[in-house]
Amino acid sequence: MNFFRELWEAAIYFLFPPRCPNCREIVDERYQLCAECEKKILRVDFYDRTLAPLDKVLRVTKYRGGSRELLHKLKFDNNLNVVPALKKILDEVSDREDILKLLRGVDFAMPVPLHEGRFKERGFNQTEKIFGEWLAKKNLPLKNILTRTKETPKLFKLGKAEREKILSGAFAAREQINLRGKKILIVDDIFTTGTTCRECAKVLKSLGAEKIFVLAFAADFGENFIKDA
Ligand SMILES: [Zn+2]
Repeated sequence: MNFFRELWEAAIYFLFPPRCPNCREIVDERYQLCAECEKKILRVDFYDRTLAPLDKVLRVTKYRGGSRELLHKLKFDNNLNVVPALKKILDEVSDREDILKLLRGVDFAMPVPLHEGRFKERGFNQTEKIFGEWLAKKNLPLKNILTRTKETPKLFKLGKAEREKILSGAFAAREQINLRGKKILIVDDIFTTGTTCRECAKVLKSLGAEKIFVLAFAADFGENFIKDA
């Protein structure tokens, strides 16, 4: 019995070997990044940024190299096979001091909302896919309190001024809500100009929120700005 099972598993492994979700290179375990792609993930620590009305922005990786490739596969090709690799990278920073301090100081987290049309087209909110389980482990509720009222074109080809114009008034509260004194963490997949998060923060602060922080999976803090997001 065992012999046949082992034979069967060997055949499956031979026919469908696990492949790197980024480059399709054969790897040891399913969903694992190959050594080359792993090297391209640019992890960062202890460098945050303030960008009013955002009180602080933290990031897990640089928005270059491997992170950029994986996030594009998720966002533009709807390729969910990259999610386990992203979640593994996020797990690595679970005990990072600046992140622990950030999480201790917030009441709840919120993903950047997708427009309903975009959500239907993609079938998921990529930010929830990346951060959902991780936040649950941290006992931090993820609340969808904002909605995207304007369907905006994909922003990655646009500059900062154009983004600001298009995104102005693009977000609103789902229902009447009082956020007085609340400290809220926006989780985001890609942070470049920060326009999207800042628009969300304006709405949240107009509802009384005291502090708005951002944790981005990948961010470009201007070192090598790539027009994308
Ligand atoms: Zn690879």
